[in-house]
Amino acid sequence: MAEVTMDKLVALCKARGIIFAGSEIYGGMGNTWDYGPVGVEIKNNIKRAWWKRFVHESENSFGVDAAILMNSRVWEASGHTTSFSDPKMDCKKCKTRHRADNLIENHSKGKVNPDLMTNEEMEKYIREHEVHCPVCGGFDWTPIRTFNLMFETSRGVTDESQNKIYLRPETAQGEFVNFLNVQRTTRAKVPFGIAQIGKAFRNEITPGNFIFRTIEFEQMEHQWFCKEGTDGEYYEQFKKKAMDFLVDLGFKQEHLRFHDHDKLAHYAKAACDIQYLYPMGWQELNGIHNRTDYDLSRHQEYSGKSLQYVDPVDGSRYIPYVIEYSIGADRLMLAVLSEAYEEETLPNGEMRGVLHFHPAIAAYKAAVLPLQKNLSEPAKELLKTLKKRFSVIYDEAGSIGKRYRRQDEIGTPYCITIDFDTLENGTVTVRDRDSMEQIRLHTSEVASFLDEKCAF
Ligand code: ATP
Repeated sequence: MAEVTMDKLVALCKARGIIFAGSEIYGGMGNTWDYGPVGVEIKNNIKRAWWKRFVHESENSFGVDAAILMNSRVWEASGHTTSFSDPKMDCKKCKTRHRADNLIENHSKGKVNPDLMTNEEMEKYIREHEVHCPVCGGFDWTPIRTFNLMFETSRGVTDESQNKIYLRPETAQGEFVNFLNVQRTTRAKVPFGIAQIGKAFRNEITPGNFIFRTIEFEQMEHQWFCKEGTDGEYYEQFKKKAMDFLVDLGFKQEHLRFHDHDKLAHYAKAACDIQYLYPMGWQELNGIHNRTDYDLSRHQEYSGKSLQYVDPVDGSRYIPYVIEYSIGADRLMLAVLSEAYEEETLPNGEMRGVLHFHPAIAAYKAAVLPLQKNLSEPAKELLKTLKKRFSVIYDEAGSIGKRYRRQDEIGTPYCITIDFDTLENGTVTVRDRDSMEQIRLHTSEVASFLDEKCAF
């Protein structure tokens, strides 16, 4: 089995309408990517599966869709205006900019943890170990400077009324500031959760690794509000829930691992990531944090509004603790593609590229293929029926073998072929993407077959 490299994934995504370089006809724009017709369907399915698991199927969890632009005081309260920064160094030779922590991590192959170092210690490490620029190979660095990752913009039409505002660097604050609104309108009792899927923006300057680290990305976040004392148990529950979700999506357990943070934020009680074995090595896929009562306490302090919860049973008042689970939709998409992609040699010696992901994730649940063009009429009839319930694609161009390959490459789990028997007895062949085995079904059975096979 050939190795899945990042170059292969990028090439597949570009060729098959999954992901294109952002602003491509203008020469692109670093770290931005556009999802194409197939990619947008896959990403939407990933988000749908997540929402189903963490909102619809979860007890006491509710969704919100908060504004991207928030009152600037939110970012003062959260600490982002003062401390959401990365340690940057410039290579004086080729003028590229790098994160000092990444340089150390890569140089030491993950053996040294820069999170535990001060800026001075990082500079010393880079000097003493002669960490060279990964772009030009030079060894002439500027001192470390910290660089706030939030994108700034301003609102108002005149200079006098200009007010600095930020594109949110995380979706979490939208959940925190709506804590009381959600609690009041749902009449939820603690413990309960608030989830959100939405765009976040970070002025990341370390390029590369495709959609792993971008400046505009989507997060899927779930904040669980609970009473102090129960937080440890819920932290463990969310670790399990986060891992189960990935395994149920089809990830091999040996490609996933927990990674506890050595250095905790001053307010955090516990924090870990789930790392995935990406083509470039083990990297963070999602984070789970016990954030104590820090977030709500800070918003209470900065907004002047009480964010205390009143227990309806014993009348006690307290600010709940928060267990945060956060995963990037794009980072998950990259992991899904890399986990699913395989280049297989078939018994006849031919090669096929195939995405073996869960049918629920596939852009199209089925492809409807008339064996010959003169069978297009009954094929389109079936297509019309199936389209009412599923995302389905039609293809009549080229040999049937070529059409199967095209569908395999974008991960379509079933190919439905209309042949001359269809005219006789109303049956079609249904080909399975993974086993390539074919069965015959009556056209009236196809929808319930897809329903059953594609459920997540
Ligand atoms: P990293 O250490 O990789 O920069 P982080 O610890 O800053 O990530 P969080 O702030 O915890 O990340 O964000 C939660 C999740 O959002 C991450 O686990 C990741 O899946 C996703 N994410 C964060 N930054 C980016 C980015 N620049 N591009 C794509 N996804 C991101």
